[in-house]
Amino acid sequence: MSLFRLAAGLQEQLNALVTDWTRVVDAHGAVGRVPLLLDRVEREEVPEAWEELWDRLCLHGETVSAASFAALPRLAALASTSAQALELAGAIVRGTLRHPDAEALLASCSNEMARLRHLVDQKLRTRPADYNRLFGDLLALAGHPHWSASLGDFDDDFYAVSCPHCEAEVTIAVGGYGCYSAMRDWDRGDVERRTLRPAPAEELRDPGGWMHATAGRDGQHRLAEGIRLVFGDAECPACGTAFNIAEAHTAANLPPVLETYVAAAHDRPADGGESAVRACSSP
Ligand SMILES: [Zn+2]
Repeated sequence: MSLFRLAAGLQEQLNALVTDWTRVVDAHGAVGRVPLLLDRVEREEVPEAWEELWDRLCLHGETVSAASFAALPRLAALASTSAQALELAGAIVRGTLRHPDAEALLASCSNEMARLRHLVDQKLRTRPADYNRLFGDLLALAGHPHWSASLGDFDDDFYAVSCPHCEAEVTIAVGGYGCYSAMRDWDRGDVERRTLRPAPAEELRDPGGWMHATAGRDGQHRLAEGIRLVFGDAECPACGTAFNIAEAHTAANLPPVLETYVAAAHDRPADGGESAVRACSSP
């Protein structure tokens, strides 16, 4: 490659890094306001500016726009010193499934995504009070937005999945009500319950293995145990076929176009995670 073409290529990459804010619309359909707010919070902590940034970039904690993704590089740069920036960036990436161009927008800032993911992972190691929310951010940053959207705290979690064999809608319960697959009957509740078969920790495939190891590393035993169940097998009460819950859930909730955007390397903790301890009661 000639020096000229090399220089032209570098220039093109540099241009891609500079956002044209006059063309990027925020959640209120406005242009230009977000960069001014970012300028302010880069200079000093201004609570009102953060409030307006949330309003424009992640309205009601969920509505994202092109401006949200365009702001990620600047939020990522602030995130090591600003908890607000880290939280807002995580909330934006959680909105991946709600924006049609999210995959392309995220692909242009993979370095920032990796940096944010590292920061969230560091914070999780300190076992913060809002561990589950941050764990959801980590999942979204690692390219699993469907898990960040659906994974709860396993206090009382329910998933509706379709049996891959007979297509019956099967309810999966993980939590205080029990850990079972069932048919949901609106009059009689969950009927024809079958006990779930958790995956052995050493047999968990990623992202389940990585999720389980991360939760175990941080002493989140209920979360780790729930992940073994959700990445394990369920029996369909309608046809008796055993199927993998996570595969059925992913097939139903992750658009194929986003499956290509999954971070290749997962940070596995050296200890491989502690074993999960919470026994799940049968219904
Ligand atoms: Zn079935």
